[in-house]
Amino acid sequence: MSGRLSRPERRALQKQDEHFLRLPLDPGPDPRSMGAHLRHVVRLLQNSRSASPCSDAVAYLTALYERSLPPFEGIACRKGCSHCCTQPVSITAAEAMFVAAALKDRPDRAAALLDYEQLSRTVPAAELGRRYCPLLVEDACSIYAARPLACHSFVSTSLDACIAAFDRGEEPQIPMPADGVNLLYVCRMMLMAALRLVGADDGAYELTPAVAAALNAPDAERRFLAGEYVFAPAGPGERPPPAYDQAIQEMAAFVYPTL
Ligand code: SF4
Repeated sequence: MSGRLSRPERRALQKQDEHFLRLPLDPGPDPRSMGAHLRHVVRLLQNSRSASPCSDAVAYLTALYERSLPPFEGIACRKGCSHCCTQPVSITAAEAMFVAAALKDRPDRAAALLDYEQLSRTVPAAELGRRYCPLLVEDACSIYAARPLACHSFVSTSLDACIAAFDRGEEPQIPMPADGVNLLYVCRMMLMAALRLVGADDGAYELTPAVAAALNAPDAERRFLAGEYVFAPAGPGERPPPAYDQAIQEMAAFVYPTL
């Protein structure tokens, strides 16, 4: 699709989107499903009447991810099992905004996260002891509904492999359902494409410094969506590998003329 759409083309596309938005995401070669959901995510990010457009967009993509997953068997993950919450978590700035918004109801956890961030800046990693996500409370995620996409999709079929990797420090070899991993990549790339389309920072950051930056910056979400770089304290945003970057660019280019 090259130039902008005419009014009848736009109406036809809207009808087509209504169909695809009711369905799970189809990550196959036909781009219409991806296009419909990506347009919707862009509109959510552009909704100036929302208290947190990033939360709406990330929550939509997370729910889409969940309802698009094929059924898995043999999943080892259970409530109260938190071995994997010892790893760094890579998130987009929009997810950091979602977590920061969720922490408004959990000031104790927001304070714990800011304390941990401060501590990790001043105390060498070797002296900090075993690392746990500061949002973990009694082996449960305190922001479960708002946890990042990477946490949603970290699904293991072997508890032994998790214990070996995260408790004994062996080389991580976690067996995960491949379909879930692929779907995560597609949803994450869609989020990055949506951020590009609205002119916001689409880099990836580590969870703790990114959420701390979102909590500390005044009026962070509005400034972030206006294209301001508010995540400098979290370090330079990581760029996706070239092949993913190209795929994100293609998604954005496919949808751009239809917005
Ligand atoms: S955000 Fe929640 S699920 Fe993710 S690492 Fe932290 S405690 Fe675990």
